[in-house]
Formats: sequence, C-alpha cells, structure tokens
Amino acid sequence: PFTYAKSLEAFERARRVIPAGIPGHQGPTEGCYIPRDAYPLFSSRAEGSRFWDLDGNEYLDYMCGYGPNVLGYGDPVVDAAARRQTALEDVVTIPSSIMVDLAELLVDTVASADWAFFAKNGGDTTTLAVMTARAATLRKKVVFVKGYYHGVAPWTQKLDYPGVLEEDVAHNLSVPWNDLDALEATFREHRGEIAAFISTPYMHGNFVDNELPAEGYWQGVRRLCDEHGVVLIMDDVRAGWRLDLAGSDRHYGIEADLLCFCKAIGNGYNLAALTGRESLRETVASLTYTGSYWMSAVPFAASIATITRLKELDAPAMFRRVGSELTAGLVESAAGHGLTLVASGEPALFYLRIADDDSLDLHQRWVAECVKRGVWFTSHHNHFLNASLTSADVRRTLEIADEAFGVVARER
Ligand code: PMP
Repeated sequence: PFTYAKSLEAFERARRVIPAGIPGHQGPTEGCYIPRDAYPLFSSRAEGSRFWDLDGNEYLDYMCGYGPNVLGYGDPVVDAAARRQTALEDVVTIPSSIMVDLAELLVDTVASADWAFFAKNGGDTTTLAVMTARAATLRKKVVFVKGYYHGVAPWTQKLDYPGVLEEDVAHNLSVPWNDLDALEATFREHRGEIAAFISTPYMHGNFVDNELPAEGYWQGVRRLCDEHGVVLIMDDVRAGWRLDLAGSDRHYGIEADLLCFCKAIGNGYNLAALTGRESLRETVASLTYTGSYWMSAVPFAASIATITRLKELDAPAMFRRVGSELTAGLVESAAGHGLTLVASGEPALFYLRIADDDSLDLHQRWVAECVKRGVWFTSHHNHFLNASLTSADVRRTLEIADEAFGVVARER
C-alpha cells in the first residue's frame, strides 16, 4: 500500500498560508470522506485516465477532477487547439470571435438551446439561470429538490450555514425527488409567486443512492411548469455531456427552458455555459452579469475541440457501456466476498455503496483500500468516466477492487 509523506508535508505548509489548507470537499474534512491516512492530498502530474500524487503514487482516476476530465487528462487534440489559440490571444480588451464559433456549436449540439451565454463556474450559470427566471417572471420563489447542490452562492446554501442570511434563502422552497404530487401542491399553494424550478437531471446527491427519474416524471414537471408559468432550469453541470451530447433534458425526453453546463465542456479548461430558449433571450441579455475571465479565448478553443471529439467518439454511449461493465464487475466481485455492493445512478456517473453496514464505515474502508492500491474511487459521491479509459484499465480496476473487498471482508 502507498504512503503519502510528501503530501502530508505539503499539507502542513498549506495550513499555515491557506485557510483549512485545502478548502472545501477536496480537503481532509473530518467525517466526510475517507480518512486522511488513506489518501494523498496533492497531485503532481496527470495523463489520460491517470494521475500521480506528490509521492509519485499512480492512480487510475474515477473522479476525473470531479468531472472536467471527460476525454483524458492532457488530451492531445484539445491541448493542441488550446496552444494554437494561446499563440494568437487569450484575455483581450474585446472578445475573440471564437466565442461565436463555440456558441454556434452549442446551439447546433444542444437540442433545447437557441443561444449560449458563457461564464467560468457551474455556480455562475445556476445563479444566472435563477436571475433570468426572476427577471422574466417578476416572481421571487424558487423550488428546489431536497438534497440539492447548485454551487455555493448564498441563494444555494442553507440557513444554518455560516455567513448565510435569512434573506438569502427566504424564497427557497423544496420538494422530494420524483414527487410530482408535491410539486403540483407547491405550485398551487404559491400560485403566481414561483419563478423557477431548478433540478439536476436525476438525483445524484451525496451520501445516498442516486435515483433516476421515474417514468413520465420529467414530462410531468414540464407540464406543471408550463401550466404555472414557471421557468424550468436543469442543472446539467455534473451530468452534462456524459449522458447525451444534446443535453440531459433531451436524454430524458423534454426540453428545459435553461440548461446549466460546466465541468466536461472543455476537458479541464475553465469554462461554463448557460443555454436557453428563444423566449428568454431578451431577459438574459438585460441582466448585469459578467466577469474578468469570462470571455477568455483559450477555453473556447478547448471547448470546441472537446465537443467535436466527444461527438466523434459518441462518448455518452461509450460511458454507458464502460460504466455498466465496470459496475457489474464490482457488484459480482463484492458478492464473491459475501458483500452487497449497490451501484446506482447512470452508469456514466455511477454511485457505489456497500450496503452491509449502515454507518458507511465499511464502504469507506473499502474505498481506502482501493485508493492505497492505485484505484481512485471516492466514498459518498458519484464517480466520473473519461474516454481514455481502456479495457485493460477496467480489468486492473476490478483486480484491485477485488483485493480490497477481500481485505474488508476479512476484517469484518
Ligand atoms: N451544480 C451541480 C450539480 C454541481 O455538481 C456543481 C459542482 N459540483 C455545481 C452546480 C457548481 O459548479 P461549480 O463548482 O463549477 O461552481
């Protein structure tokens, strides 16, 4: 098993100059992810489906930078496009026309898109979507799905989180996932007050088995939103480009009014996009919303190359096949050691849980044993696939996972 001396040393330095050392969920948050001694904290290099930590340990990576790595780290085609654009220009006083090229590509690719608006982070686009809905409807309330995550802007947080005002979340309502009756009741109770319904395409929350939409669910949501004049926002930041290149709304048979994209849009180059329907074009154009780096040209070039490559590969079909093979193999391997592994969500973004222990400790220990042997799974969060993953990689993953199941089954 691996050791992480250099990572820990760097973390001690980090703690002196960066609040929390590594802020947010990638840090060794107490009680959240696998124990600190089981995984490294800093990487040093990445290529294809792998990265290396500061101590030189190599990982087959099923987190893909939490999503952006969709083609493989350092994809040669994307990086060449980015280098060509770097040689020309990046952040300049006025935008490069490559922004228009990418917007045209998105409008051609995403079924529900009549326009595209660019920003940097997923949270920029969810905030823009909610502002657009409020400006278009002149209503205040937003309906969420319980367990939601749409970024870190104050309106997406909870009242008991530090720094959040009552006013920030005063207009938030929530309904359970897959519950059309609750949605209808909420729309009726607050008739004329609801600007938007915002949801991910399926329930890919943390710490819980992920849930797909029930038959007819999205069609029902679409109908209720139309009846009540509510803007339907789909947050495709996490699942976007991995289920369907035409959008996850299209994947589940509807058209959203607004679609939020980020993560996989540029294979790691910093970019996000809100796309939307004609009826909201004037509203989005009327908002005060911009940023210093939002029109930088290099990520636009990278994104054009990424989307083109995803289309050539039919990446969503590949992810479905590889994700199904891998999760079936893991479930079978667990069973061989007398353990019940539950794989949920879409195969492209599979979520894993060893069901034999409600405390989730057993699952965390298994993940730790995988990480220490070079397979980077994570506990309590969905995983991500990238197109550079080979059958040999999947076989190696299954071998290591099997060894790790053996370790935790024996301990148990
Ligand atoms: N929505 C969803 C569904 C996400 O998964 C994320 C990021 N994990 C966000 C929004 C926020 O995106 P970002 O961190 O790029 O602001």
